[in-house]
Amino acid sequence: MPQGHTARKRFGQNFLSDSNIIRKIITAIAPKPGEHVVEIGPGLGALTEPLLEECGQLQVVEIDRDLIARLKERYTPEQIVIHEGDALKFDFATLPSPLRVVGNLPYNISTPLLFHLADYAERVRDMTFMLQKEVVQRMVAEPDTEEYGRLSVMLQYRFDMARLFDVPPGAFRPAPKVTSAIVWMRPKPPEACCCSDEKLFGKIVTAAFGQRRKTLRNTLKQWCSDADFETLGIDPQARGETLEVDDYVRVTDLVAQHPRSGLI
Ligand code: SAM
Repeated sequence: MPQGHTARKRFGQNFLSDSNIIRKIITAIAPKPGEHVVEIGPGLGALTEPLLEECGQLQVVEIDRDLIARLKERYTPEQIVIHEGDALKFDFATLPSPLRVVGNLPYNISTPLLFHLADYAERVRDMTFMLQKEVVQRMVAEPDTEEYGRLSVMLQYRFDMARLFDVPPGAFRPAPKVTSAIVWMRPKPPEACCCSDEKLFGKIVTAAFGQRRKTLRNTLKQWCSDADFETLGIDPQARGETLEVDDYVRVTDLVAQHPRSGLI
């Protein structure tokens, strides 16, 4: 195990050890002095060290106390501001903006963490993450594909995203069972996220993909009549995976205007 630390499975600890991959990730992030960078899960510092070299100062959020103790031994508070605790509960609004968020994310919390971070999109300049390849495929998936689902719609509504490159299991110690990928995310300007009721948008998207094999007439019956589908120009026999992100925005806006009484 690298540097005498025993990797904790419950914290999703797979430490990057391939220097070529580390360099590639840092090149993709291209951090500059003076930028506000926060790293989630610095671990043993594989990304932390080169990030610091480039930008001089860094914020980190780490849950593992043993790793925090090591970070404190190695770096001064002027170099690294350490936030001890769970990134899922961390208030990113306490950090300076515009924020650049980076991290080799623990796979077990990656989806809830992406949703948590989406709440801070207005304060974020961009985010670069290592995630399970399969998750990245779902994030950037297009309609009418197997990977396209709730995660794709909810994140594509708020972010421009690009899958940058894959990272094989051998780049980590211990090696995970799956291939990883680097994804880059940039919040869309607020005027592009123009759904009139984002909470309702989330509910409608969740329902549309809750039972993938069912038609929209069925999954959205709580909100949309056949007349609504006709107004929208959407085939009620179609399935959720055929609708574009903008279609979900249109459905939501119509429903928000004409809620079916007693059903919402
Ligand atoms: N950045 C290091 C690297 O690339 O080698 C470590 C990556 S490891 C996949 C994930 C890191 O996130 C670990 O340091 C782990 O302790 C930390 N972590 C796990 N769950 C966390 C949470 N809920 N909040 C903050 N950090 C967490």
